[in-house]
Amino acid sequence: MLRGGVPIGRAFGVALRLNYSWFIVFALVTWALAFGYFPTVHPRWSLATSITAGVITSLLFFGSVLAHELSHSVVAQSMGIPVRSITLFIFGGVSEITQEPKSPRDEFRMALAGPMCSLLLGGIFWAISYLRGVPEMIPAIAFWLGWINIFLGVFNLIPGFPLDGGRVLRSLLWWRSGNLRGATRAASGIGRGVGYLFIFGGIWFIFTGNWFNGIWLALIGWFLESAAAGSYRQLLMQEMLQGHTVSEIMTRDCLVVPPDLSVEQLVNEHILKSGRRCFPVVRDGHVEGLVSIHDVRAMPREAWPTKRVNEAMIPFDKVKWVTPDQDLASVMSLLTEDDINQLPVVQDHNIVGMIARDNLLSFIRTRTELGI
Ligand SMILES: [Zn+2]
Repeated sequence: MLRGGVPIGRAFGVALRLNYSWFIVFALVTWALAFGYFPTVHPRWSLATSITAGVITSLLFFGSVLAHELSHSVVAQSMGIPVRSITLFIFGGVSEITQEPKSPRDEFRMALAGPMCSLLLGGIFWAISYLRGVPEMIPAIAFWLGWINIFLGVFNLIPGFPLDGGRVLRSLLWWRSGNLRGATRAASGIGRGVGYLFIFGGIWFIFTGNWFNGIWLALIGWFLESAAAGSYRQLLMQEMLQGHTVSEIMTRDCLVVPPDLSVEQLVNEHILKSGRRCFPVVRDGHVEGLVSIHDVRAMPREAWPTKRVNEAMIPFDKVKWVTPDQDLASVMSLLTEDDINQLPVVQDHNIVGMIARDNLLSFIRTRTELGI
């Protein structure tokens, strides 16, 4: 859900995207401001003025959310942690940061950057709302944006992982104990607790008649709880994979294909018969590339009889690979980061096997079922 979105450009080397849910929220916020908030606070305004103010305010609001996320990114990048993209979605923004921070100090600064940005923006808008002698719309818009930014800053400082405040807490626990795993476990436990508090608070609101706020609160709580539980599951998975190597679970009986095979033959004689999804392309014991169902699908059907495998494959120098003694936890993050399904296992320039997401999942499943 968080991956999809409409690209809207780049800033500081980070790709910016709008998730589809964003459009719904944008419309809702604009509508609530234009027909609810502004007409109530400024009853003398014309409908056109209220609508204009509503649109400008909600654009600046989403700009503020973006600024919050960008400040996380800029601090992360200044510490050498790459940030691939920022997606604005229903509850705000999500930065796709592909690495865990290297030290508690880094995490502390990275996590705090966002809320600090929101509080700073809140202060600036709040100051603007006291300006006199300017068109009435300016202080009116700034007043709402001031409070909403202060709210964003404070809300994100709630110490439940994966909220920013939870990350701050995790960095402090990590700094005290020197144990990232233990710190993540504690912080995500508190995150789940905060999520349940929100859900119960929401239910209480619903039963006392304030159902609109109740539903919102419960939804946010549910989102927080599942995000925290997700981070904890990921930690458990990492722990299970840690200390095991690729050679333990890779597929060894690698089916290889020659480069001058036609794509049609690859499909009929290899993919359909073996059920495998990915084949090393090998000539005279030398690996030239890797061809997968994905590459075949990218080629029009009518070209299959005439095109050769080496025209469809990914050349070896562009292929990502792992070594037999590599840690499974690092393989999992490689697969997730690049959203790929399998990697060749390479030793001394030879493909000695393949490792797929399925291998990792069945490794985890078996251990979970045995209770190990
Ligand atoms: Zn943040």
